[in-house]
Amino acid sequence: MKCTRDGSFSKGELKRFGNIELNPSAGVLNYGQGLFEGLKAYRKEDGNILLFRPEENALRMKMGAERMCMPSPSVEQFVEAVKDTVLANKHWIPPQGKGSLYIRPLLMGSGAVLGLAPAPEYTFLIYVSPVGNYFKEGLAPINLIVESELHRATPGGTGGVKTIGNYAAVLKAQSAAKAKGYSDVLYLDCVHKRYLEEVSSCNIFVVKGNIISTPAIKGTILPGITRKSIIDVARSQGFQVEERLVSVEELLEADEVFCTGTAVVVSPVGSVTYLGQKKSYGDGIGVVSQQLYTVLTRLQMGLAKDDMNWTVEL
Ligand code: PMP
Repeated sequence: MKCTRDGSFSKGELKRFGNIELNPSAGVLNYGQGLFEGLKAYRKEDGNILLFRPEENALRMKMGAERMCMPSPSVEQFVEAVKDTVLANKHWIPPQGKGSLYIRPLLMGSGAVLGLAPAPEYTFLIYVSPVGNYFKEGLAPINLIVESELHRATPGGTGGVKTIGNYAAVLKAQSAAKAKGYSDVLYLDCVHKRYLEEVSSCNIFVVKGNIISTPAIKGTILPGITRKSIIDVARSQGFQVEERLVSVEELLEADEVFCTGTAVVVSPVGSVTYLGQKKSYGDGIGVVSQQLYTVLTRLQMGLAKDDMNWTVEL
């Protein structure tokens, strides 16, 4: 689907996966005008397909587009395009329990622009791929390293939207962490270097007794759709959930820590390493992580009644 800067997107078409052509001076290549989304389609036991809260991804793309001076498809256009793409690729969706279909909507400044300015034309496309577990550990504890020097976002920057540049910013720390055997990097705020932000591609939660705390949304972390869903699920399970500043000291004193995201679902954290000191959270999967993982995935796969109306059946 294409549109001009002040226009609206026309109806798109289905095309076989392959390379696309871009002008060398396209806004996305030169000035980083790019946004993406990530959501999943799950196979139900009866073979039908479930999407999880696709309108939330549409709304987040709209919010991001506003920050990045880009037009965006309407919520209805976005959701329709996701449905059409998934249905055209339904043979790729693994059987229940064997993975899911990852859906990647992409919005970019595809028009040519030489001086710094928003591109004159935009392209919205969606591609899909079957996926298994994000971390090689599967639903097993991951090991994070806390990074306080390199930052993925600054106050007033673009950390709160899903723009491509945010991911370029994490590559250096993430590659270094992986080379040392860590699963991923946990970032701290760049002002105090003391408060938790998020992991390269997921949000973070710390558990102490019955209280589950997670960094508040304040423009430097991505408002995760899994984060939002887990907050509701945890409250419905009787936990007290707090969205606020969470310090690295609290992380080190937590009973349990876990990450959330479309790709990682709910991933228990086995250890964090901060300033060379490793803190472990006990053996195996924490009970709270396991409980929330089970409730969420049962909903996403259509194994539990969807009282929240979060799933869309195709
Ligand atoms: N933070 C970042 C930086 C991410 O890339 C993601 C993945 N989209 C998340 C958090 C989790 O968001 P969601 O639950 O919507 O996938």
